[in-house]
Amino acid sequence: MHSDTNLRCRVCGYKSENPPWGDNEKTPLYDYCPCCGVEHGYQDSSPEGARNYRTNWIATGAKWMASTARPKAWEIKEQLNHIPPDFI
Ligand SMILES: [Zn+2]
Repeated sequence: MHSDTNLRCRVCGYKSENPPWGDNEKTPLYDYCPCCGVEHGYQDSSPEGARNYRTNWIATGAKWMASTARPKAWEIKEQLNHIPPDFI
């Protein structure tokens, strides 16, 4: 079982099937968030890095990296509510 927080992207709050930083939050997968496109383990390795990436992502239109994965009824505001608290 993974906690909901562990499954969430630190930048955009997207919920992955596997925890982007592992169950211990210390072993990043070095894969890409299909939503914001952050590479887990790089830009999101610090709260400042995650915030900077998020600010830039939103400023450039909050586009999905994997546009086919975007739900039709996607609500960015709802998803942003799920960013792990330490990275808001
Ligand atoms: Zn993301």
